[in-house]
Amino acid sequence: MTKNGHIIFAVTTAIFAKRFELNSVMIQADWWHLIPAVLISCLIPDIDHPNSLIGQKLRWIAQPISLTFGHRGFTHSLLALIILWLSKFTFFKNLVIPDDIFQGIILGYFSHIIADILTPAGVPLFWPYRKRFRFPIINNNKNKKIEKRVCFSLFGCVILFPMYFPLLVKYIALLYIKII
Ligand SMILES: [Zn+2]
Repeated sequence: MTKNGHIIFAVTTAIFAKRFELNSVMIQADWWHLIPAVLISCLIPDIDHPNSLIGQKLRWIAQPISLTFGHRGFTHSLLALIILWLSKFTFFKNLVIPDDIFQGIILGYFSHIIADILTPAGVPLFWPYRKRFRFPIINNNKNKKIEKRVCFSLFGCVILFPMYFPLLVKYIALLYIKII
């Protein structure tokens, strides 16, 4: 998925988590904390690719990660997500990070993994077990517009829910029929 796709998908995930009140932190979460947090973390998994946006900025980290794990390896797994979560209680335990910012960071990272599952290459979700998990509804090689359509449709869903929900279900069903 492209970086723009990841950004839209991450913002959509944040709006979903807040509007559907996924947990007590999300109920209280400040939009000005949540959205920047997901924007910061949603591109981090691609640190394993030296030509990605974050890889270009932090080449000295990206290069060794890429050589060790390859693209869409460890950084695209649940293990990386768990280590990120544990970092709050280990590496960053002396740092005061508001809960909504921390959960936003986790959410942004998680949204990247989910978004990559929607592409044909998939991700090794349970790395080091190398089987790739995929639900390839977004194939940019087949249709350049499909990524934008899926991302903006999901964005529309979370923004307009519940008012236009029946209309949106119809639209997504039509879109899905077109894809398959
Ligand atoms: Zn990725």
